[in-house]
Amino acid sequence: MKIIMKFGGTSLNSADKVRNVSRIVKDHSQNNQITIVASALSGVTNLLEKLSKQSKHNSKKIIANELEKFTKLHTNISKDSIKDQKIKEEVLKNILSIINELKSVLEGVYAIGEITPRSRDKILSFGERLTVIIVTGALKDIGISAEPFTGAKAGIVTDEKYGEANPLMSITKMRISEILQPLLSKGIIPVVTGFMAATQTGDITTLGRGGSDFTATILGAALSVDEVWICTDVNGMMTTDPKIISDARTISQLSYSEALEMTVFGAKALHPRAIEPAQENKIPVRIKNTLDLTGSDTLISNDQSIIKGEIAKSVALIKDVAMVNIGGAGMVGKPGIAAKVFETFAKEEINILMISQSVSEANISLVIHKHNLENAVNTLELSLLSRGFANRINAEDDVCVIAIVGAGMKGSQGVAARVFKAVADKRINVRMIAQGSSELNISIVVKEKSCEKAVMAIHKEFDMGKS
Ligand code: ADP
Ligand code: ASP
Ligand code: MG
Repeated sequence: MKIIMKFGGTSLNSADKVRNVSRIVKDHSQNNQITIVASALSGVTNLLEKLSKQSKHNSKKIIANELEKFTKLHTNISKDSIKDQKIKEEVLKNILSIINELKSVLEGVYAIGEITPRSRDKILSFGERLTVIIVTGALKDIGISAEPFTGAKAGIVTDEKYGEANPLMSITKMRISEILQPLLSKGIIPVVTGFMAATQTGDITTLGRGGSDFTATILGAALSVDEVWICTDVNGMMTTDPKIISDARTISQLSYSEALEMTVFGAKALHPRAIEPAQENKIPVRIKNTLDLTGSDTLISNDQSIIKGEIAKSVALIKDVAMVNIGGAGMVGKPGIAAKVFETFAKEEINILMISQSVSEANISLVIHKHNLENAVNTLELSLLSRGFANRINAEDDVCVIAIVGAGMKGSQGVAARVFKAVADKRINVRMIAQGSSELNISIVVKEKSCEKAVMAIHKEFDMGKS
């Protein structure tokens, strides 16, 4: 079989884990052609994000201090996961040279006193650049031929939307297959950085936070693999976040559309953008636990298996959101208010997660990410209040969204009623509700303080747990 194996930061953040990953790859490399995608060690991209934000104020001394910890983290894992002295020295030399490059970039930002989206992407890409060096070293250490690649060197070309770049798929597919296929045919394992790519002119771009999963399916599509494996720290896509509810159960099979609904609504084990290349090229995606590889997992493919009696498959919780309510008698019968809101948000690049409008038309409620709230309210006030389109705009920033997903919900009656009852029995008030036209999803908004209780109640109501 031809397989992409993507290892997330949580699968690589200690020497033991790196050794475990190289053993897994060795075990599977006898009968399969494997390409690896590696993320940054967990926490590293957050740290780089912090450094990039502060870099215009950080003096050389602060930069040097921060980078010392950073260097230790990567060199310690390398020292403890690689035995062969020569390989180890080569890896350490490469790590130091990459970190030196990072230092120059950070000092450059400080000297100019400005961070641009382009320099931010460059800084963020360093985490992945370091892990591919470590993983390649660890593989060589146990006798496996491997070669590290940046996403750009492997052939991923994107547009210039820094921070959330879009791959130019035709050229990307052609290049990847030209560059990586000859290696695979010779039994060499390419180890590719997740998350980062480059524009046509060679400037580094990133694919959005959590975007290594996307790299995996882009490579999968280009190499026409049999399966893409997303290896993470949980046993597949589960009925809810196992970190919230220990009773969460693995969902063994999901269609691409169901998986998309789940991931858009916060099931972090897979990035939503990763689904399109897989779906378009009909490539099955498996979500597996790196520390329990043969244990239960999830297969995402074209099949939509609706188990008899199973209505809702999963329930997700999305935090860090805010609800904006736009109201006023002046809105009744006045066409184009919703359009005005969309237009205003589009201009400011504010993503809308949920929208609902009351039948009387006197109220529109929207859910957005909390970090956009101030900007959203300001621009809405300018474009709606000042021109008399609405007379009231208020916001609640202590809410969360709970999304219930499942193909069995389509056409099945009373799902919303059961959701409401489950939540009401716990004396939790539902602030807003929306149902996607696909009928694969119902989302509700509740106060943040009750969100975990509400998720538990819904999880139980639809019998999603193990027990
Ligand atoms: P990685 O480092 O492998 O990319 P992530 O942290 O990005 O890992 O994603 C895995 C995490 O996703 C899990 O640890 C889990 O807490 C979270 N998660 C949230 N919802 C779900 C869900 N429905 N099923 C599985 N995992 C989920
Ligand atoms: N390292 C990147 C991030 O933390 C990409 C990823 O982990 O998928 O966002
Ligand atoms: Mg991830």
